[in-house]
Amino acid sequence: MANYQKQFESIGFGYDTLTAKGYNKINGISFTVDLNPNTKDYIVSAACRPVDETAVASMRQAIQQFASERKKVIKNAVFDGKQIIIVWYIADIAPNITKFINDSVSFINYCINQFGCVPCCASCGNESNANIYAIENNIAALCESCFYNTQNRLAGNMYKENQIVTNYPLGILGAVLGGLGGAVLWIITSLLGKISMIAGAFAGIFGYFGFKKLGKKMTLQGLIISLTVSFIFLLAGMYFAIGVDIFNAVKEYGFTFSEAFEWIPDYLTDPEATGEIIYNHFAGFITFILGAMCCIFQYNNEKKVKNRMIKLM
Ligand SMILES: [Zn+2]
Repeated sequence: MANYQKQFESIGFGYDTLTAKGYNKINGISFTVDLNPNTKDYIVSAACRPVDETAVASMRQAIQQFASERKKVIKNAVFDGKQIIIVWYIADIAPNITKFINDSVSFINYCINQFGCVPCCASCGNESNANIYAIENNIAALCESCFYNTQNRLAGNMYKENQIVTNYPLGILGAVLGGLGGAVLWIITSLLGKISMIAGAFAGIFGYFGFKKLGKKMTLQGLIISLTVSFIFLLAGMYFAIGVDIFNAVKEYGFTFSEAFEWIPDYLTDPEATGEIIYNHFAGFITFILGAMCCIFQYNNEKKVKNRMIKLM
């Protein structure tokens, strides 16, 4: 991500780290660049429109042609009445993004000059020297009145959000169910003979989302509770998986499942065996920590973008 920031800055664009979006104002027109790692769509938009309505058709034609000449890299390009939007298809893992941004900007600049475009608001489409705002997890070019409307809507959301009280009993139930899911996943992957590294991470993530789903609202306490609960369940899952391992080793001698389980404490204190256990389950602890870090990052990020409304440019 830091790499993207440098690339944006090298071509004079600003970069919003929370949303991984770039922005710039060129000749008063607001440009935004949205890098979507999920869809691999990289979207360059410019909030502008022709003053003369009759120019719209020929501008649309030019946009169509621009896109069709670059079929391999451009997925779609349109003018939606308020913005020229170019959707690039980037398959590279670590792409150089400056080229497609520069290509977009020079083509959009051509449209602006050729078809007499003026800056406008990306929300209402009115001609206006719109500013670029970061609004929660998005960035947008808004006129003053759309800015105030959005601000009011966010204030309303914040009020409603504050009315929601975290339901801790249900949240804990959610964390328990999530943690149980993680433990079961651990046991299943362990029974299949190969401990899946990922299963440990899922334990924490399941617990986190379990709490959030049933508890209605995540809090710092909820975060700590859900990660603790899921860790306990992961340990229980590991304990059970060790029992199953012992049972598998001794069942041919006629021992039962419960007898095998009674041996777990002895097994766990046997230095020779313990080394093997640690080796087998170590990956689970590591991935659990990684999963927990994802949850903490998610919580932190959500908190940062919640009701965020700042002027970027
Ligand atoms: Zn507006």
